[in-house]
Parts: sequence; structure tokens; C-alpha cells
Amino acid sequence: MKTIILEINPQKIDLAKIKIAAEEIKKSNLVAFPTETVYGLGADALNDKAVAKIFQAKGRPFNDPLIAHIADIKELYRLSRKVPSVALKLAKAFWPGPLTLVLKKSELVSGIVTAGLDTIAVRMPADDIALSLIREAKTPIAAPSANLFGRTSPTTAQHVADDLGGKIKMIIDGGKTKVGVESTVLDVTVEPVQVLRAGGISVEKLKEVVGQVKISKELEEGFRSPGMLNSHYSPRAKLILVEKKGDAQVEEVRRLASKYIAQELKVGIMAKEENQNKYNGFEFKVIGKGSELDVCATNLFSTLRSFDKEGFEIIIAEGLEEHDLGLAIMERLRKAAAPK
Ligand code: AMP
Ligand code: MG
Repeated sequence: MKTIILEINPQKIDLAKIKIAAEEIKKSNLVAFPTETVYGLGADALNDKAVAKIFQAKGRPFNDPLIAHIADIKELYRLSRKVPSVALKLAKAFWPGPLTLVLKKSELVSGIVTAGLDTIAVRMPADDIALSLIREAKTPIAAPSANLFGRTSPTTAQHVADDLGGKIKMIIDGGKTKVGVESTVLDVTVEPVQVLRAGGISVEKLKEVVGQVKISKELEEGFRSPGMLNSHYSPRAKLILVEKKGDAQVEEVRRLASKYIAQELKVGIMAKEENQNKYNGFEFKVIGKGSELDVCATNLFSTLRSFDKEGFEIIIAEGLEEHDLGLAIMERLRKAAAPK
């Protein structure tokens, strides 16, 4: 299959082009498109044949449910049979934006989207190209990240083409994504609401709106024993995450880098800006200032992908602080570092 690349200027959206992409969605085809988090691989969420193509193209197991993207809050009531007041409060506070709500599904939603679960994950993305596409397609769009399953998520159209070129009908190129990490997934069927995946809306921000927020056991346990985590978000290179702090972190990164260089491997360091001068003589890339976690989030996946493009075999990543967007970054780095 030849993948069509459709360039759309996010500042001046050409509706005629959006209509071309929406036609492909209506014809049960796959269209990758930008959102504010990462690029999504979109299909008509209410069409089983189209949704099946997502799993096929990504190599994603059918037991991993998808997020349905909507452009109008009314759609929430079509997709869910029970919208608790807390969900509405959160939607009003954070939509459009990087927050996914997990709610009881309606009859309209088929089991392929939800992986057989009785719940559906829904979000309204804060990206005008994404919103226009959903409106023109006149259907909710199921869209996981537009990468091969288990791999680093895409933050540019080129990243999507690198993974899925030749396998999908179309890629809308709307430039680099802003947030850089996926949405926060929040289960609102339980009390208190529970974070299933850290993401673009921080736990701190959620607490400002709903008070109590629980962190899922899986997430917490994953944090205690990252070895037990399933590998995900992984670059091709072997990724080693160094979680120590301060000078001990730099020392450990340098020790590991030297060890692998001695084995004649091509080693790269993903460093905080303030530490870069401590890696003279090593190859490194800067993710951002350690104090600017939102900038680090924006750069995370593209930095990992650039190591791969340049043929690095080992990436040694400095851990970041675990608050605000740092929680989402560390969740991803731990999974990326988990054994394959
Ligand atoms: P992706 O779109 O690839 O970034 O992944 C979607 C995430 O949402 C995955 O971590 C899913 O496990 C999660 N998710 C989707 N639907 C549900 C659901 N019904 N219940 C719990 N988690 C869900
Ligand atoms: Mg994904």
C-alpha cells in the first residue's frame, strides 16, 4: 500500500484536506493524525472492520483497549451509559486536553474497541486538526499512538512513516506535537477516581479539581519493581535508566557508559541540560532542563528516536524528578528500560 502524506498547516487548517482524510475514515481506512500528545492512528471507532485494521497495522494484541476520541461532549453520552458527575467536572476542567476518562460503555460500543471490557476510554484532544477530522468524519475516532506495538511513540509525521509507512492509508503531517507524552488515563467508575496511566495532565492538577485521586496499584507496584513491568515505549537500542540523584547519578551514568564503550558498543547518554558538561568525551543528547519537566516531556520520544536513527546500541538515560509531568516521563522510561 502506498501511504499518502497530507500536509496540513495547524495555524491555517485547509478544510478541503481534512475532508479528504475524513473520507478515508468513512471508507474504513486508517489515517494517522497529530494530537497535542502524540500522533494517533485513527479509525472509525464504531466500525469493527476499521478498528481491526489498527491492531493489525501496529501488531497490537487485541486485549489492549483503545481510546475513542470525540470532538463534542454530547458524544460522551452516546459512548457511555453512565456519566458520573465527577466525569463531567473533569471534562469541563481539562477538555479538550490530555485526559482520558474510563467510563461504563454504551451498547453502541463494540467489544473490539474495549478489548471485551465493560468500560470505554474517551477523550477530547486539544488539537484543531484532530478535532476537525473527528467532526468531518462524523464519528468518534479510535486512535492509539501511531507506532509499532511496544515501540517509542511518534511525535512527528516522519516518526509515523518510519514505523507504519506502507501499512496505512494516510498520514496527516501537522508538525511536531506539543505535549509529547500520551494522555493521563483516569478511571471514573470508581471512588476515588484512579489514575491507570500517568500522562499529560498531572496528578497535582487532577487533585486541584477532584480532591482525592488514587494511583493504580499496578502503576505503584511497577514503580517499586520496574523489572516486573512489560516493556513498552522501547527504542531499538537497549535503554538503561539511572535513577540515582545528583552527583551519584552522573557518576553512575559515566561508569555505565565507560563499561559499554569498553565492549565496543555505540553508547549515547540522555542528559539533563545542567549535566551536559559532565559528559565531555561521551556522546550525549540533552532532553531539557531538569526543572522544565514539560519541555523534557515534549522532547522525550523524539530524543529516543534520534538515538535509534543514529545507530546507537545503548542509551543511558538520567532519571528525572517524579512530580508533575516527571511522573509520566518516568513511567515511560521505566517501561522502556524493562527487559524485552
Ligand atoms: P494508547 O492509546 O496506545 O496510548 O493506549 C491506550 C491506553 O488506555 C492503554 O494503556 C489502555 O490500557 C488504556 N485503556 C483504554 N481503554 C481502557 C479501559 N476501558 N479501561 C482501562 N484502560 C483502558
Ligand atoms: Mg501507545
